[in-house]
Amino acid sequence: MSNCAIVGINWGDEGKGRMVDLITKDYDVVVRYQGGGNAGHTVVNEFGKFALHLLPSGIFRKGVVNVLGNGVALDCESLWTEITDVVSKGVAITPENLKISDRASLLLPWHRDLDSLEEARLADKKYGSTKQGIAPFYSDKYQKKTVMAGELLYPDKLWEHLAGILEWKNLTLEKVYGAKPYTMDDLRKWAADFGEKIKPFICDTGAFLRQAQAEGKNILFEAQLGSLRDLDYGIYPYTTSSNPIAAYAPVGSGLPTAKLDKVIGVVKAYSSCVGEGPFTCEWFGEKAEKLREAGGEYGAKTGRPRRVGPIDLVATRYGIQCQGATDIALTKLDVLSYMDEIPVCAKYTLDGRETDEFPFPAILPDAKPVETVMPGWKCDISGVRTWEDLPQAARDYVEYVEKAIGCRITYVSVGPERDSIIVR
Ligand code: GDP
Repeated sequence: MSNCAIVGINWGDEGKGRMVDLITKDYDVVVRYQGGGNAGHTVVNEFGKFALHLLPSGIFRKGVVNVLGNGVALDCESLWTEITDVVSKGVAITPENLKISDRASLLLPWHRDLDSLEEARLADKKYGSTKQGIAPFYSDKYQKKTVMAGELLYPDKLWEHLAGILEWKNLTLEKVYGAKPYTMDDLRKWAADFGEKIKPFICDTGAFLRQAQAEGKNILFEAQLGSLRDLDYGIYPYTTSSNPIAAYAPVGSGLPTAKLDKVIGVVKAYSSCVGEGPFTCEWFGEKAEKLREAGGEYGAKTGRPRRVGPIDLVATRYGIQCQGATDIALTKLDVLSYMDEIPVCAKYTLDGRETDEFPFPAILPDAKPVETVMPGWKCDISGVRTWEDLPQAARDYVEYVEKAIGCRITYVSVGPERDSIIVR
């Protein structure tokens, strides 16, 4: 039996989806343990190209059971839309290979409205939300003002519970934002349209996972976003509203006693960041545009152009510490092939001094990048499958990064397809 978490080390979009899709061949169960339908895990395989939002990336593997744990923001509407889309491309999704925790809290229709209303109120001070309702959802979860998925199985209790929450939520919608209130009829329609659809998948996934553990099954925990977006350890308040770090995987999955044998941290060979907040290594102008184009850096969920820059060794080292990564997967190395020299953000300057430490969020905007360069390799490496076949300059770059971040780079990804990988 072995438990492994696949996590993002940076700001998200590192290529976790492609790594989970690759690694699932060795695992029996894949669990998403936090976050919601705002993820965009891109997977390219024999069924086509997918941007998975809430479904675990093991959904394509026959025999793998996929679990949405209690820590996720369960948006029935977005999940049902996603299931319908994936099924239409020939992938089987049944209660046998998808199980939804009865303890997962439900993202309710007003959460999305509140996300947009608050971003509009903040105007130029906005957080850059994906407007999927994630922040309002998690605040309500911690205020105990939402319902759990399992309540859909007990309609009488559900409606009594929802009536109380509706009354409270309408106060905020009407009095704070001057927005239209919801009615019980709206909620009944939502439950009929989407809640009913996901009901067959809801079960006690904690019991399922305990059984799987007892039977010695291999369990893979799949994170959304990355260390720097973690609510407690990231660049607050420009974080997400949950904990993407591996330490949360046991809690959010439904297996609180699980021990992680392996934590694979995914790092991109350069940096990208979606939304607002300090991004020290950021590039602007033509060189940013070139890297964005080369890497196809446009949000999988929103289509927004991502902010880009060179790999940030300061942030990456911090991200690895937060995750306790045992192995690193370095993705998108092929994207750098067009560069004569490969720039690296090796340090920051802060208050006139150089530092290797990732600064406290409040002073992070004052940090400036210190760049250095490595030789480029200037040839197509997307067909390379062994370490020995990589050009020397590419190997030097990987080894330089490995030494600087202090964690073994076990996987080097040179393309989005499942087999475009070098295992060292
Ligand atoms: P995730 O949210 O961490 O799963 O990352 P995304 O799916 O948002 O972004 C990763 C993007 O890079 C996707 O479009 C992937 O298909 C693509 N990708 C992943 N690994 C590689 C790679 O090694 N090379 C190239 N060229 N693309 C990759």
